[in-house]
Amino acid sequence: MEQYDCIVIGAGQAGVPLAKKLAKAGKKTVIIEKRYVGGTCVNDGCTPTKAWVASAKAAYMAAGKSDALGVKIKGYKVDMRQIMKRKDDIVMKSRLGGQKGIEDTKNLTLLFGEASFVGPKVILVELNEGGPVEMTADLIFIDTGAKPLIPEIEGIKDIDYLTSTSILELDEVPKQLLVIGANYIGMEFGQMFSRFGSKVTMLEKGRRILAQEDNDIAEEMHKILAEENIDIYVDAKTTGFKKTKKGKIKVTAEIKGKEEEFTCTHVLIGIGRVPQTEALNLEKTGVKVDDRGFIKVNSKLETNVKGIYALGDVKGGPAFTHIAYNDYTIVYRNLFENARLTTTNRPLPYCMFTDPQLGRIGIDETTAQKQGLKYKIAKLPMAHVARAIEVGDTRGFMKAVVDPESKKILGAAVLGSEGGEIMSVLQMAMEGGITYDRIRYCVFAHPTYSESLNNLFMALEP
Ligand SMILES: Cc1cc2nc3c(=O)[nH]c(=O)nc-3n(C[C@H](O)[C@H](O)[C@H](O)COP(=O)(O)OP(=O)(O)OC[C@H]3O[C@@H](n4cnc5c(N)ncnc54)[C@H](O)[C@@H]3O)c2cc1C
Repeated sequence: MEQYDCIVIGAGQAGVPLAKKLAKAGKKTVIIEKRYVGGTCVNDGCTPTKAWVASAKAAYMAAGKSDALGVKIKGYKVDMRQIMKRKDDIVMKSRLGGQKGIEDTKNLTLLFGEASFVGPKVILVELNEGGPVEMTADLIFIDTGAKPLIPEIEGIKDIDYLTSTSILELDEVPKQLLVIGANYIGMEFGQMFSRFGSKVTMLEKGRRILAQEDNDIAEEMHKILAEENIDIYVDAKTTGFKKTKKGKIKVTAEIKGKEEEFTCTHVLIGIGRVPQTEALNLEKTGVKVDDRGFIKVNSKLETNVKGIYALGDVKGGPAFTHIAYNDYTIVYRNLFENARLTTTNRPLPYCMFTDPQLGRIGIDETTAQKQGLKYKIAKLPMAHVARAIEVGDTRGFMKAVVDPESKKILGAAVLGSEGGEIMSVLQMAMEGGITYDRIRYCVFAHPTYSESLNNLFMALEP
């Protein structure tokens, strides 16, 4: 049996930087990956989708939007093979770069294979090439991420449905794409494929799209997608799938209590993700999971078994790359730099990369209401933002929740061009304690989007 100081399971967004840092600190470390270095983000998530979002934006401009800027584009063509190749090149560069970074690190071994526990701190790896190997270490870090959740809907096993992973292998544009689930992943793919030329229909079980966001955000986003000819049905429970004789898929759904039928060429399941914990055989260690299989951790990311930690998506909670990365810094710095970091109250910024983007930080209006806080709302339509007018995209609005007494910003939502970047400016203000009455008079470069933060907070003038 191989003896290591540290074992890292999963070469994802927490696992790779953690393993490198442990090895550089002199710990004999092994990192085990069953598939590709970089995990979901690099191979099936952020990187490929944002590469495609860029191609979709180019198609959207060519299809007519550039006309309004005085540039006429005739006879444009969406070349899905080239779009695919561009995405694959970006992914491969990142994947192989990450792999080389591991291979070049002293004290660090990379094994390709599936890991599972066979004893409290004993791991068995079924190597992708070669037989099984066993190893042990005092410190074990689980970063196995998540995978698409597939619902049990009648007929689903009889159709070739797509997931957020398999849709990235399509080298042709679906004629009719039906997306089940109108949340971040479904919205990004739905808009992207509509721009590539698919007729997109979205079915959302909830009463509105983007269930976690304020009502006005969801309504505005719904309107934006509807203007792009995407059909969205809410209160729509998908009840069955059937293959037709012509090779299409018939989808039945209960919409506002009434049965409806749709016919499409492709179905994308975008209803959420489940943790990759099944194969880990956690019973052998006593590590506890919740009723959905996510690993339970304390605020320092340690499981109920001393020396075994879980990081990233596999522990539940917000599933983002920057959170997985922050998990690694918490765990590493606590263990090796005598820090006392926890996940409690850490900022949670995120961005939905639709066009326009939705950048979010802090609490929203709904939460402020629920918590009975004394708050005020500052709101500015993008149509009042000079930069947005010049660029030719005035969809959406900026919105901030503030404390009228301390004048602190409690949260913000920016639905607009570069919404993620504008949100980050507000995040910096929140973290640095810069109050809204100061931002009102900050000197920003003209004409940037952020300059309009002056006006956003002017709206709060007594
Ligand atoms: C379509 C899509 C778009 C996304 N876009 C964004 C975005 O724009 N911004 C953002 O912040 N986040 C985005 N995310 C989420 C982001 O990708 C994840 O939050 C992030 O990758 C989580 O990192 P992780 O380290 O927890 O796990 P992962 O990156 O998933 O890595 C886990 C790794 O563990 C490996 N593994 C699993 N089980 C085993 C085992 N038993 N043995 C060995 N190896 C194993 C897996 O193969 C995988 O490589 C997106 C996700 C999807 C699906």
